[in-house]
Amino acid sequence: MTDHPITMFGPDFPYAYDDYLRHPAGLGSVPAAVQGTEIAIIGAGIAGIVAAYELMKLGLKPVIYESDRIGGRLRSEPFKDGAGAFAELGAMRFPPSSRALFHYLDLVGLRTTGFPNPLAPDTPSTVIELAGQKHVARHKQDLPPLFAAVERAWSAALAEGADFPALTRAIRLRDVTGIQRIWHRLVETLDEESFSGFIAKSSAFRDLGFRAREVFGQVGFGTGGWDTDFPNSILEILRVVATGADDEHRLVIGGVEQLPRRLWARTPDPIAHFRSGTSLASLHRNVPHPGVARIAPAADGKIAITDRYGNQRIYSAAIVTCQVWLLSARIDCAESLFHHDLWMAMERTHYMQSSKTFVMVDRPFWRDQHPATGHDRMSMTLTDRLTRGTYLIDNGPDQPSVICLSYTWNDDALKWLALPLDERVRLMLHSLRQIYPDLDIAKHIIGAPITVSWESDPNFMGAFKANLPGHYRYQRRLFSHFVQQDLPAHQRGIFLAGDDISWTAGWAEGAVTTALNAVSGVLRHLGGTSHPANPDPIDRWAALAPVRLSE
Ligand SMILES: Cc1cc2nc3c(=O)[nH]c(=O)nc-3n(C[C@H](O)[C@H](O)[C@H](O)COP(=O)(O)OP(=O)(O)OC[C@H]3O[C@@H](n4cnc5c(N)ncnc54)[C@H](O)[C@@H]3O)c2cc1C
Repeated sequence: MTDHPITMFGPDFPYAYDDYLRHPAGLGSVPAAVQGTEIAIIGAGIAGIVAAYELMKLGLKPVIYESDRIGGRLRSEPFKDGAGAFAELGAMRFPPSSRALFHYLDLVGLRTTGFPNPLAPDTPSTVIELAGQKHVARHKQDLPPLFAAVERAWSAALAEGADFPALTRAIRLRDVTGIQRIWHRLVETLDEESFSGFIAKSSAFRDLGFRAREVFGQVGFGTGGWDTDFPNSILEILRVVATGADDEHRLVIGGVEQLPRRLWARTPDPIAHFRSGTSLASLHRNVPHPGVARIAPAADGKIAITDRYGNQRIYSAAIVTCQVWLLSARIDCAESLFHHDLWMAMERTHYMQSSKTFVMVDRPFWRDQHPATGHDRMSMTLTDRLTRGTYLIDNGPDQPSVICLSYTWNDDALKWLALPLDERVRLMLHSLRQIYPDLDIAKHIIGAPITVSWESDPNFMGAFKANLPGHYRYQRRLFSHFVQQDLPAHQRGIFLAGDDISWTAGWAEGAVTTALNAVSGVLRHLGGTSHPANPDPIDRWAALAPVRLSE
């Protein structure tokens, strides 16, 4: 089975985006008469940039609007005077199972290195501190037996409640029939189930008692505490685990924001319609258009986009990649452009909150040995204290390095929301001092700290979507909207893409793949087709469509 690595293939829509992307025939073509047609792209995050790049290659002219900055939630914030040190404020760790994302990382020549997750091969040491008890570990086996029991219980729960060995085997083998047989049944039986309900009802966890669930909630299944996800639909968690999204994470050397920026500057070859040397940057004179204030229907089934300064342009098609709450909360978007069922799905979208705070330090001092214990002075740290997850980014001996003092979600993130930056840092250092009483982290800090609370940023309003129990139908409506042949004419030509539309929100892979769906939608809308040798997501829709639950 090692020949068949786990990839983010399905399970809801098991379409091979990686094969589609690398096929020499390309993504399709549009008639010569429509080449050069302008297509509005709202948002220059990775979904908007990928969609724009691929449309440009096909000879269509993307017009990108961005209210903040290129990259969106791929945001690598440099420390001021930081000699290249940066803070990954949004996405920071990427599973190799993200095959479409890695297609683009490879295309633009970005390299990755192991991310220092808890107990990961590239992590020198990990401290797990729960209920005042501190455990130092290099490997799982260094932890007390309860941790191994919890890990076994999680595997047993997955096998018992979600047919996991068979499901992951089918995903590895890209056995579409096998995936659909298992996954459709899981959707039907588990849509209303929460993550915490699923584990509490499993016989393995029931036998171990509440303490085991508490430990599981703090330590999770790989990358840290997942108890802030406990209220979410178990289907969300099963997607993550079944597709290896939480495994073998990679850090992009130099920062992931380089990906959208390099695609923006890249000159594809071959390119249809445009002269060679054309890039998204050159089409935009190096700067995207300002943020969008209004989206409205225009004559002949076209779409009118008005920017924040009142400039209006009319488009044959538009791709919206910003978070969907913004369509009612921040953009004056005509109601008639979407069916009420779709509006309902947008309004019910549930976001995780997330906060991160980073400091730059003089050097990776954590690798020093403690004179009494012989342990590293400091380790990647998981705790039930305010900080929850502390990650150490080593930029090399004697180089300014970076500590993510705290990475939190939901209630844990809300605890930081009202606090100014200095107060956040003070409290985080206080928490860490309880775990490392004789270590003075502050004396190593250089430069100004960096913090983010995504929910307080009006261009986002949340970190990333996470469906609650009972949300499957909403998710299906959002995801399937790019297949438009059954929509009334006045609702065609506007496409949704990005993290909110994806089945695996919170992973950039879903932003990329939904952008490709939107590209195939725009192609069809303008009378184009895929190449017969390389069927696109719309060609494969009838065979692969996500299961439909009764409405
Ligand atoms: C804290 C955090 C941690 C994450 N961790 C990971 C991870 O480790 N691994 C991983 O793979 N993924 C991770 N993700 C998810 C990943 O960042 C997203 O899936 C991806 O970046 C989303 O890209 P997008 O293009 O869909 O959306 P965005 O990046 O949000 O792009 C949408 C763009 O629209 C813009 N916009 C908003 N309003 C308007 C307007 N009116 N007009 C024009 N533009 C507008 C926004 O400014 C933004 O740039 C994380 C996300 C967050 C927030």
